Amino acid sequence: LVFWSLAGASIAGLAVLAGAHDNEPDRANAPKRIAAPGAGLVQSAPGQNEWNRGRTPEDWWGEMLRYHGHVGPWNVVGWRIGQAALREFGAGWGDHSLDVIVHLPLTTPYTCLADGLAVGAGNSIGRLDIRLVEELSSATVHVSIRSKTHGRVLEFWPSRAYLRRISGKPVSELGAFAKESATMPERDLFEIRRPGIID
Ligand SMILES: [Zn+2]
Repeated sequence: LVFWSLAGASIAGLAVLAGAHDNEPDRANAPKRIAAPGAGLVQSAPGQNEWNRGRTPEDWWGEMLRYHGHVGPWNVVGWRIGQAALREFGAGWGDHSLDVIVHLPLTTPYTCLADGLAVGAGNSIGRLDIRLVEELSSATVHVSIRSKTHGRVLEFWPSRAYLRRISGKPVSELGAFAKESATMPERDLFEIRRPGIID
């Protein structure tokens, strides 16, 4: 029973398979089968179904530590952008309904932002819903996010003042900046832009 409910996304596919091999038109009376490992794990659609529903980490700071190894201001800015994106798009953590494109120089500490985003929104590099694009200047670091549900795009641009504040600081100070970033007003961290559409 558990298997059938979890495999809701692929149940139609299983029914087609069953039909191809024997005559079992009545799914409800079909014998309970043990699926081979990985059977039905072909694809999951974006959305709030049982198949791909995630769970927001209650301890996001600890999750970041486990995921990334440290928590610095770039991680926290990414986490805050991820949280803001869920709010702005009405998306759920880990529901994979957002495409997140992270524009940054491909070097630390900038790339720490991407792991913060992954923890903040529940996106996964292996699911291709968070992708990195190289920028040649730290002045153009930003995140573009598109909703797979309705196609809307928003951009999240870290504020110049904040980037200046956290740049070139000794490692010993980064913990304090990270804590500060966790609670400071969002408008002081980044600006949300709505790119126009050319039709
Ligand atoms: Zn880092």
